[in-house]
Amino acid sequence: MGTTGKENLKVNATVDVIILGVGSCGEDLSLQLLDAGLNVVGIEASLVGGECPYYACLPSKVMVRAANVLKEAERLNGMAGHAEVIPDWKQVSDRVRETTGNWDDSVAADLHELLEVEKLAFGDEEGPEAEFN
Ligand SMILES: Cc1cc2nc3c(=O)[nH]c(=O)nc-3n(C[C@H](O)[C@H](O)[C@H](O)COP(=O)(O)OP(=O)(O)OC[C@H]3O[C@@H](n4cnc5c(N)ncnc54)[C@H](O)[C@@H]3O)c2cc1C
Repeated sequence: MGTTGKENLKVNATVDVIILGVGSCGEDLSLQLLDAGLNVVGIEASLVGGECPYYACLPSKVMVRAANVLKEAERLNGMAGHAEVIPDWKQVSDRVRETTGNWDDSVAADLHELLEVEKLAFGDEEGPEAEFN
């Protein structure tokens, strides 16, 4: 019974563990707990996977790689030929968008749903609201 949406929800579920925040750590933890045979509910206010794939590790590496390539290309002059290097941020931002799946967590969320970890994404900056019985 995977559930996503922006509305506040009432959930009737008996679970062993509720994971608040399904970022990198929450994802790993939920998979380990499932492996151990426990019932798990993950509550994620934003994107399943957390900051690493969407705002931190992956996008930053795309940007670092782009900067390195630009710098390396500049070294060509005087070493092995001639190159005109014209930076184009749009190409970098397009790759960031591609790498993050346009900040779409449905693959990760679907995986968790398959594994019967709930994604309950709702609420606002104040955080999600839920009632468990
Ligand atoms: C620019 C940058 C680059 C980085 N590069 C690397 C790298 O190359 N390698 C590396 O190992 N690490 C890197 N990191 C660190 C890495 O991103 C973090 O260590 C990792 O994301 C932490 O995972 P987490 O699960 O603890 O937290 P998060 O990923 O922040 O996950 C926490 C989750 O909890 C949710 N949440 C918070 N409050 C609530 C609430 N009240 N209710 C419901 N959900 C809630 C959030 O929405 C979020 O999804 C980088 C960080 C930055 C900023």
